[in-house]
Amino acid sequence: MEYKTDAIVIRSIDYKENDKLLTLFTPSRGKLTAGIRGVRKPKAKLNFAAQPFCFAEYVLAERAGRYTVTSAYLYDGFFPLRTDIVRYYAGCATLEICNALLMEEEGNEGTFIATVECLKSLSLSEEDPAECLLTFALHALREGGYPVDLDGCGVCGEEVGETPCFEFEFGFFTCKECGQGERASRSTYEVLRKCAGLTYAEEKTDGGRKRALRLIKAYLSQKTEEEYPCFGEFIRLYE
Ligand SMILES: [Zn+2]
Repeated sequence: MEYKTDAIVIRSIDYKENDKLLTLFTPSRGKLTAGIRGVRKPKAKLNFAAQPFCFAEYVLAERAGRYTVTSAYLYDGFFPLRTDIVRYYAGCATLEICNALLMEEEGNEGTFIATVECLKSLSLSEEDPAECLLTFALHALREGGYPVDLDGCGVCGEEVGETPCFEFEFGFFTCKECGQGERASRSTYEVLRKCAGLTYAEEKTDGGRKRALRLIKAYLSQKTEEEYPCFGEFIRLYE
């Protein structure tokens, strides 16, 4: 059986002598594994389709539940990501998040579109890479069942004030009075509100991007029990 689908390569590992095994993110079947033959030979025609970040229309042969790539038509390889190490790691972190939060054989069109948008912004625009990644991470967490609530204190409903806390268990911030979780900063909260498309206090965002990245990485690690080495490297490199 043949299955034609748009997909993004989120992981690519060597397999046998000249092949690779790809983890593809597809809008209608979520994450799936597909072999691609002969791509490690020089001049292999489908070499481009076996690279991480490749966004293409794939034609897959499906036999006994296993997929093999038979052809691919490139939409975007997000090549500028390879020319800027900071943006490159933000891109890799995007793929790490996909890999950790997506299920096999479970479609997720919204996150698929958000992934393409995120890689596009990272590779083309002047947009801050931390904000691109945070916007994506908040979306993916929400779709993955671990939403971050940014609507005031999660306990009393009042404003979070200047020294909020973050409750990792529930994914919400609290005001100081209700706070039992980890101390967070107001700037973290405001940056996350900005990245979630909510109103935010610009004058209170100073220094918040790096803190927000650390908080979201810790939250992701706790919820998915995965390591995020590229996300970590991006935080280290990001100024
Ligand atoms: Zn409160």
